[in-house]
Amino acid sequence: MNRPTILTGDRTTGPLHIGHYAGSLANRLRYQDSHDQFLLLADTQALTDNAHDPEKVRRSVIEVALDYLAVGIDPGRTTICLQSHLPALAELSMLYLNFVTVARLERNPTIKDEIRARGFGRDIPAGFLCYPAAQAADITAFRATVVPVGEDQAPLIEQTNEIVRRINAMTDRAVLPEARAIIPRTGRLPGIDGKAKMSKSGGNAIALSASPETIRNAVRAMFTDPNHLRVEDPGRIEGNVVFTYLDAFDPHPGGLAELKARYQRGGLGDSKIKARLEAILQELLAPIRARRAQLSEDRGYVLDVIRDGTERARERTEATRRDVVNALGLFQL
Ligand code: ATP
Ligand code: MG
Repeated sequence: MNRPTILTGDRTTGPLHIGHYAGSLANRLRYQDSHDQFLLLADTQALTDNAHDPEKVRRSVIEVALDYLAVGIDPGRTTICLQSHLPALAELSMLYLNFVTVARLERNPTIKDEIRARGFGRDIPAGFLCYPAAQAADITAFRATVVPVGEDQAPLIEQTNEIVRRINAMTDRAVLPEARAIIPRTGRLPGIDGKAKMSKSGGNAIALSASPETIRNAVRAMFTDPNHLRVEDPGRIEGNVVFTYLDAFDPHPGGLAELKARYQRGGLGDSKIKARLEAILQELLAPIRARRAQLSEDRGYVLDVIRDGTERARERTEATRRDVVNALGLFQL
């Protein structure tokens, strides 16, 4: 049976958060049976803006792997592998850099946003500016055609496909497949501070491993509608972080629609909507936290999962590297 291939990954910069769950993990869980799935622990990509803190990048490999297993990624069905141990990815990255211009990299809207958010100014690490080419290498090395990701990744998939088309045109045959992003309805979960995106590096996240108190405090501090001062006032849904989160996580859309209508009419206090959100998040995260705590006692098992997965991924990515080198007509010894 020929199942389509999925490749996604996460930078190993810290434990995963509920933004990852909404944007990507929930879909990855959904496709475990119907697709050949690979998850990349992206430690070399993490280094592109963390070269000053390789220890964090190293430590986070296990953290992210624990999060995968805790949410229900099954290593029997999904391959978990480590980017820095797949040399074909680095070699393909070097080749792909010749099929993209610096101007195009600088124009990528996600890269632009991220450069601004990180305050690089003119001092952009070259590896960071070029990571879209490396990501193209990751996706194509696995011959992935489906990429379930958050909204911020759409420009990166577009750039991947541009590189693929260039290489295919150049070699006069479809040596690489194009990939399609699958982005959920809430494709970008805002931070608990109301900032546009919850992110590990932004310090505005609720980790999948957060304690019940952390979850409670985060929801209490959440930004709602600043003009909704008294319970009887009509409230706004747009830009109200609590409702954005409810949109992403409330399993009862009918009840939520009614709640929104009441909030907009007036007569529904912020404490009520926050209590509903808190209950939903506590219920979602409690089993994940418990499983993660259990798994973290068995580091050997987690390491075995990564080792086995990386071994499997090595063969597959190496085969693609050979195909690309052959198609480009480089000298063979
Ligand atoms: P960093 O701050 O180190 O970049 P991050 O929190 O942005 O970390 P990534 O590892 O860059 O996380 O992203 C991994 C995947 O999770 C991507 O598919 C991305 O689209 C998705 N994702 C991350 N944050 C969010 C979010 N707030 N909403 C929806 N999807 C998200
Ligand atoms: Mg990111």
